Amino acid sequence: MHYKGRVVTPQMLASMMRIIGVLYVAFPIYLAGIYFYRRGHIHWYTSVTEYSLLVILFSMAAVDMRRAKSGHWERFSPWFGFGQICGGLALATVINYTAGGDTTVYRLLPLLPAIAAAIMGDEIMIITIWVLTVTALGVVTYHQTHAVDTTGWLVAVWGVAMAGALVSIHVVVDRFLESIRVSDALRTLASGELSEWPEGIRSLLPEVAKALEVKQVEAVAVDRNGDVSLIGGWPEATDLSCVARREDGMRRALERAHPLAQEDAIIVPVRSAAEPHMVLIAHRHRKESYFNFEEEGTTAETVAGLVAGMGDRATLILSLRHQARSDPLTGLPNRRVLSEALEIEVSRSRRTGNPLSVVMIDIDFFKPYNDKFGHQAGDEMLKAFADRLSHRIRASDMVARYGGEEFCLVLPATTAQGAVNVIDGIRRDGPVRDSQGNAVTFSAGVSQWDGLESIRSLIAKSDQALYAAKEAGRDCVIVQEG
Ligand code: GH3
Ligand code: MG
Ligand code: MG
Repeated sequence: MHYKGRVVTPQMLASMMRIIGVLYVAFPIYLAGIYFYRRGHIHWYTSVTEYSLLVILFSMAAVDMRRAKSGHWERFSPWFGFGQICGGLALATVINYTAGGDTTVYRLLPLLPAIAAAIMGDEIMIITIWVLTVTALGVVTYHQTHAVDTTGWLVAVWGVAMAGALVSIHVVVDRFLESIRVSDALRTLASGELSEWPEGIRSLLPEVAKALEVKQVEAVAVDRNGDVSLIGGWPEATDLSCVARREDGMRRALERAHPLAQEDAIIVPVRSAAEPHMVLIAHRHRKESYFNFEEEGTTAETVAGLVAGMGDRATLILSLRHQARSDPLTGLPNRRVLSEALEIEVSRSRRTGNPLSVVMIDIDFFKPYNDKFGHQAGDEMLKAFADRLSHRIRASDMVARYGGEEFCLVLPATTAQGAVNVIDGIRRDGPVRDSQGNAVTFSAGVSQWDGLESIRSLIAKSDQALYAAKEAGRDCVIVQEG
């Protein structure tokens, strides 16, 4: 989260909300306790102090256990909550004893289901338990005394209400923090860039998991034929067999372009302009967490859209990069790439001592060809010529379009004589022809790197040789010595 320089962080805000909320809800309830005490319904030492302490301790413990269970609050352990409850009970017993052994403390027992409900983590359950506890207490006391035990009843209502209120505040604040986490994760996804697709997706999986609030995510590529391959997983990659049993779900999700809930997993289709399509499988652990599709489907769709957008941007960036590095007519690398390759090859030769040769090639009488057959035919011829050159060289060699009808070959680990052999090989295939059968020849100038000279001088040498080849009547190759 980027809150640098800001005085109030969301965590601080959440803490303030928590304190204000506790005061806001607890204070009137506390006042009600005092009121009952003043009216003589309850005794000071057994009720207000004891109940306040226990209720606060118990609800805190419940909240801490909830957090520990959710897995997002690693620093809380369930044992910490358990210790709080045991400590609270011990404290209540001590207070009770020193105060003369009043049995009112047993009325605390109805609080335990409420706390258990809070730990189970379902607000509906908490409310149900409050209602049931209070009703049951009323019925039981009426049954025993044939009168409504207003003291016990009111105190229990008061205690349960306070516990519930405190738990609810914590839940609301936790939700608030959670929503910040989720929107942060979504923002990171929205502003993120992928340099590679789909492999780069692996680096995104932690953010995807945060946004979907899940503990495990897998990214699976699905190609046009429906074949699946695992791209990666977070926190660890599972094997493909675990993914395979969801194959049907993945296909359906992709078909309808809409997330699909499957028990403890949600299958999120990511349809991007880039092939193959992808599917994110997000899991929760155990039953606690069956997906609530109404809410979570929307987040899943947002995540899918963002990831797909990143994929499309990555594809666009890659194609722009390709465009910036290649010649649009022939598809050959351009001069910029040629310079880079020459730098690399010169330094490699310097290290290894291997020879390095550069050949400049220029089509003969191309202007008359253009004038006679038109520019379109000229373009077609340039493409055919580029194809001829690129098919004749090794994988470690490079051919670039130097400009106009000039091409440059970079031949690592090749002497000038070797380069002449390459050119002769090309020439042996006969003149390059267009679809009408019109042919062109070419002249070539070869130079070998002398082990010291600059790239500029190496190119200049090849240029001189090319000029000499033209002077010598064209359709030939000349080596520039020295
Ligand atoms: P030389 O044998 O001396 O090389 O003669 P040339 O006519 O090939 O030489 P010149 O450099 O005078 O002419 C090059 C011509 O190549 C000019 C232009 O018509 C043609 N040309 C350069 N780039 C392109 C291109 O992208 N497409 C087409 N169709 N023609 C091009
Ligand atoms: Mg020419
Ligand atoms: Mg030329």
